[in-house]
Amino acid sequence: MRIIKRKKDIEAFVERNKEMGLKIGFAPTMGALHAGHISLYAAARKENDLVISSIFVNPTQFNNPEDLEKYPRDVESDLQLLRESGFVDAVYLPEIADLYPEGLATKNYDFGGLENEMEGKFRPGHFNGVGTVVEELFRQVKPDNAYFGDKDYQQLAIVKKLAAQVNPQISIHGVGIHREENGLAMSSRNQRLTADQRAAAKLIFETLNKVNDWFRIITVPEINRRVKAIFDAEKDMQLEYFEIADEETLQQTDFFYKDRSYRAFLVVFVGDVRLIDNLHLD
Ligand code: AMP
Repeated sequence: MRIIKRKKDIEAFVERNKEMGLKIGFAPTMGALHAGHISLYAAARKENDLVISSIFVNPTQFNNPEDLEKYPRDVESDLQLLRESGFVDAVYLPEIADLYPEGLATKNYDFGGLENEMEGKFRPGHFNGVGTVVEELFRQVKPDNAYFGDKDYQQLAIVKKLAAQVNPQISIHGVGIHREENGLAMSSRNQRLTADQRAAAKLIFETLNKVNDWFRIITVPEINRRVKAIFDAEKDMQLEYFEIADEETLQQTDFFYKDRSYRAFLVVFVGDVRLIDNLHLD
């Protein structure tokens, strides 16, 4: 597995491989890798000749400086996991200057309103940060296919819009959520949970499954009330938001229309760790 650190080197590497007609699959990450990330590379391996990973903790997508500071980082064990997976040909480890040559500024995007829902309300500026870094990574890596997790479903929807706007040749693929045995969605932030918190956090997926049981049987306001009550009863967990939203517009719904599809979205703080999850309702 090739390790590439500078912009000029990734661009030269990509150019050489493009000249040979190789199809490139790419999945960007912020490191502290786990089996959820590896599932993106497993998907990429099946559909591409060359698979590229990137690891970069992107400062501009953190609205909370403490969250950025505490974000787990362990490049050596990330490289080991990527090597062991056997799915990845090259990993790009840029410095800030490789992605932000003019300093840490973000572009202002219009994603047709998607950016104002859910995470957009609670993390101001987050999606401008995501858009800026993903656009630049796409420019340097020039993938044919790029892979993003359903775990960050709103981000996936926004990256699809971004690619359509800036580089329609890139196909964006969503990959299902990889979970721990107890149902907790795998996340780099899980490393910051104690064993007890990790066990308790299974309540998140259990709750999403209950919502799915109630789907189209119980009214949306009543579902919202029940979910709030579940987390109100937990003293170590705080519900930041729960929403049932239209899968396409990501707008919160108060009613289940017959020919629309829906997804339940939830963010919970366990201690000071912010956990995000979602489930397609069927
Ligand atoms: P991150 O390193 O958290 O920025 O995530 C990098 C990519 O991996 C994003 O596209 C995430 O949605 C995806 N990802 C993170 N956790 C999971 C998971 N548990 N299952 C599937 N994809 C994931």
